[in-house]
Amino acid sequence: MTENLNPFAIAQAQLDEAAKVLQLDPDMHAFLRRPMREFHFSIPVRMDDGSTKTFQGFRVQYNDARGPAKGGIRFHPDETIDTVRALAAWMTWKTAVADIPLGGAKGGIICDPRKLSQGELERLSRGYMRNIARYVGLTQDVPAPDVNTNPQIMAWMLDEYEVLMGHREPGVITGKPLELGGSAGRGPATALGGMFTIREAAKLRGIDLSKATAAIQGFGNVGSFAHKLITEMFGTKVVAVSDEFGGIYNKNGLDYNVVLEHLNSTGKVIDCPGTEPISNKDLLELEVDILIPAAIENQLTSQNADNIKCQIVAELANGPTTPEADDVLNSKGIYIIPDFLCNGGGVTVSYFEMVQNGYQYYWDEEMVNQRLDHKMTSAFHAVDKMAKAKKVDTRVAAYLVAVNRVAEAVRLRGWV
Ligand code: NAD
Repeated sequence: MTENLNPFAIAQAQLDEAAKVLQLDPDMHAFLRRPMREFHFSIPVRMDDGSTKTFQGFRVQYNDARGPAKGGIRFHPDETIDTVRALAAWMTWKTAVADIPLGGAKGGIICDPRKLSQGELERLSRGYMRNIARYVGLTQDVPAPDVNTNPQIMAWMLDEYEVLMGHREPGVITGKPLELGGSAGRGPATALGGMFTIREAAKLRGIDLSKATAAIQGFGNVGSFAHKLITEMFGTKVVAVSDEFGGIYNKNGLDYNVVLEHLNSTGKVIDCPGTEPISNKDLLELEVDILIPAAIENQLTSQNADNIKCQIVAELANGPTTPEADDVLNSKGIYIIPDFLCNGGGVTVSYFEMVQNGYQYYWDEEMVNQRLDHKMTSAFHAVDKMAKAKKVDTRVAAYLVAVNRVAEAVRLRGWV
């Protein structure tokens, strides 16, 4: 049988597995398998050459039983509604496992932002917000950045929303620039949250991180901060990093500042001085202690799972491992920190941003990071404890913790 790589089919299969262990009521299971609401729309954008191009946009509100829906917006040429559905489902489990009072959503536009001018990007971002403005808000659904979107795009969307609504409402969107009500610490939050989970997993496995090695796939917001933080916080040696154009390797470790400077001047990590090239495929199969997928879905599959040699997989990306690969990695005794636990730091600090916007009173970065550490460490141990109690792998355990919480909120509301 060929492996099903449709992210939504994978998200549903993961839920099915958890439902079996939980002996979840079949009606509840059926309800949780589907998004509660989704919006599909066309966004006409006036291009710089005077023509009008129509883009396809989506917003999926998967489940808002525990609170307003929450989730990022991706701009990607390969975006599909099923990717958005899967990511919205994972957001639902992510906010539940982190135990923050929010639901799960996700949005996207099929587009290649690299081919758009700044003006076109702004008009596209504002057009997206015009389409969803009625359905988002502090008490409904709060978007944020994701792949290929950033604080500037959030600022345009915030402005469009506030112009339409006629009042200031900074909490309608998170990941904003600091000047417009963003939170200190939001930039590195996803990677930092992942670091707290890596620290805890390493303790469990008896790994001394100051003597450990790591490889990181993806050198965007999450992957590049992961490189910086794992080196600064633990002294771990990062021997390989990559982006969509290929990877770089140095067995003595890669200097974060040198790689960043090279990336800033060339747009790619390859050909960075003092490194040898490595393919994305070979990077994943390196003999390292910590493997950090921080790029896109379906990177660890039945094709390469047998060749993965790390001790811990810290899934900073969403959906990097297929269920078939999961089985293989678990049977090899590799400790997986599942995506919606490992990368929950971003949404947790987004939640802190909403709280600060509500009070119009802002915390310093130290306070944000301390509270993030507390949330991530508690979530990590809730999942690890569940894995041991139910004798299941960590991904199933994360689902058990999350699905129990969401199902309880659904039940209390009397929906099912
Ligand atoms: P980004 O766009 O800033 O960076 C993505 C990186 O992945 C880039 O370096 C890109 O070149 C690389 N990449 C793309 N395709 C690749 C491929 N086929 N092989 C290797 N590298 C490839 O995005 P990001 O915000 O860093 O997000 C990365 C992952 O983390 C995504 O799965 C995202 O959903 C997840 N995530 C992000 C956040 C956040 O706060 N940004 C939060 C939670 C999860």
